[in-house]
Amino acid sequence: MSTPRGSSPAAGSLPRLLYVEDESETAAMVTEVLSDEYLVDHAASAEDGLRLALTQRYDVMVVDRRLPGMSGAELLSAVRTAHLNTPAIMLTALGTVADRVSGLDAGADDYLLKPFDFDELRARLRALRRGRGPVSGREIGDWLFSPSGLALYAPDGSRIPLTRAEGDLLELLTSSPEHVFSREEIVASVFPGGSPGTVDAYVHYIRRKSTPEIIDTVRARGYRTGTPR
Ligand code: CA
Repeated sequence: MSTPRGSSPAAGSLPRLLYVEDESETAAMVTEVLSDEYLVDHAASAEDGLRLALTQRYDVMVVDRRLPGMSGAELLSAVRTAHLNTPAIMLTALGTVADRVSGLDAGADDYLLKPFDFDELRARLRALRRGRGPVSGREIGDWLFSPSGLALYAPDGSRIPLTRAEGDLLELLTSSPEHVFSREEIVASVFPGGSPGTVDAYVHYIRRKSTPEIIDTVRARGYRTGTPR
């Protein structure tokens, strides 16, 4: 069982790393080594790892391939299906080309053969993060909206998945944060064939799953991006 530690203020500025590994000795060693540079959340199974990946914000993931139950490749595949593009390194003891290719096909950006050198793992992680940077998105107050990831990230790092329609609505509002969009404008670009009531319903869905302040109501005019804290 693992506990997210993202709210620890002392470690608040470190990038967040999700590490999925079932072998406890390896896990303890790697976690200790990586904790100099990352805020590490360790999960001992792919199921726990997936739960964390879908509910927390991570800058990078390190995933062992051989896990009991769901495999590391299945985990990454599920993560990618959920539109999460967090860079990931797969750790694998399997050395054949086919195994490496299948790990990359499943959604890994890089792989490292076990046993590996800690310095090499750290260097590969740095290289991966240089390429991607942190979760990219549009700021809504202290929240972050990821159009490509179809998710909102709360200030504490928790991830709130959005439906396609909710994402489209927020994408429109955040495309011009100062602008007040009338219901008719929103219907025309996001809900063709819909009604003003459709807009109100989706605004309600988004507020209910995140925070009421995520979208401002401008009386008699429409909606605009809010400034939630
Ligand atoms: Ca393993």
